[in-house]
Amino acid sequence: MIDQPQPKAFNFLRPALDQLVAYSSQSEELETSVDKLDANESAYDLPAELKEKLAWQYQEIISSNRYPDGSHGELKSAIAQYVQESCEAITPANISVGNGSDEIIRSLFIATCVGTNASMLTADPTFSMYKIIAQTLGVTPISVPREETHFTIKRGQADQAIAQAEASGHPVKMLFVVHPNSPTGNPLSNAEIDWLKQLPEEILIVIDEAYFEFNGHSLVNELPNYPNWIILRTFSKAFRLAAHRVGYCIAHPEVIAALEKVRLPYNLPTFSQAAAIVALQNRQQLLAKVSEVQNERDKLYNALNAEPRLKVWESASNFLYLRLRGESLEEINQKQAELVNALKEKGTLLRHTANGIRLTVGTPAENERTQKNLLSYLDH
Ligand SMILES: *Cc1c(COP(=O)(O)O)cnc(C)c1O
Repeated sequence: MIDQPQPKAFNFLRPALDQLVAYSSQSEELETSVDKLDANESAYDLPAELKEKLAWQYQEIISSNRYPDGSHGELKSAIAQYVQESCEAITPANISVGNGSDEIIRSLFIATCVGTNASMLTADPTFSMYKIIAQTLGVTPISVPREETHFTIKRGQADQAIAQAEASGHPVKMLFVVHPNSPTGNPLSNAEIDWLKQLPEEILIVIDEAYFEFNGHSLVNELPNYPNWIILRTFSKAFRLAAHRVGYCIAHPEVIAALEKVRLPYNLPTFSQAAAIVALQNRQQLLAKVSEVQNERDKLYNALNAEPRLKVWESASNFLYLRLRGESLEEINQKQAELVNALKEKGTLLRHTANGIRLTVGTPAENERTQKNLLSYLDH
């Protein structure tokens, strides 16, 4: 490594990047085996017979010397069929796929805000990638808070922020909501959905349904009425394919056409497309785990909620959001950092984020160990 750049060298790099830190996950630093409950992945690998099917495809059908199908035709058809279970009107023309939904989020910025004065709006706490990607692209992120008891969006403040941004020449072109939200686990309320419906159609409303399968409620049925809405989904959670990086979105064909223009030509490797198709073909088998996760989540909620030193929120997803009780946020965060470190030493990875702790529901054995470790830590 060349480690002695002159301070003035590399000034071809954008100064704004100085403020950013490269993304890294906790588990990359660890060597021992752990209960990995910090990233909301599925606790379950693909079943062996599905891996065999994929291995067979790799040996017999896939040509490694050929570029992937850049139109994603077969995958889009398979996705459209799946989405039709929720909304019959959806066709492959309503679908675009990406290298994880993260790539689609980036494409959305390129298609709406980049190279303009436009800004984007989130309600915090929420998925951190929206703001991170905005910053890497030089787009101004605006955020408003959520109310403290149920984490619904402070809609009056959001309306004000939208008006202010417009007045200052930085109109909001994109608004991100997560249904159900991460890290707090709450689905959109009816009042929030009504609010989204009356927002100006100059704003692209992104409804991130990464955890849709755990909640069972989608807003895809509203798409025909609201052409400025887009639904984001992923194969990284309930479909157990985080390793393959496949995400997709559902929107009006005009929006899809714009996304297709700005993405890289061969954004999704052949093997990942094949994995997503196999997962969809076997969705009944794969999604059978969802009800187990829901039961485990509710068991864990009840056990942790009985502990007076914890505040736990109900969740419509595959994770729980909790907070230690304390005098000030500073004290709470200090104690939470200690707790997360102590559990890491015991082999349980949790995520300390947004003044709370996010705990992914794992296998029954993982959940039992986590519950035991967490409660015995609080008793010491
Ligand atoms: C996990 C997650 C995603 C998925 O991202 P991928 O890039 O598809 O793995 C998207 N949005 C939210 C809110 C998530 O929690």
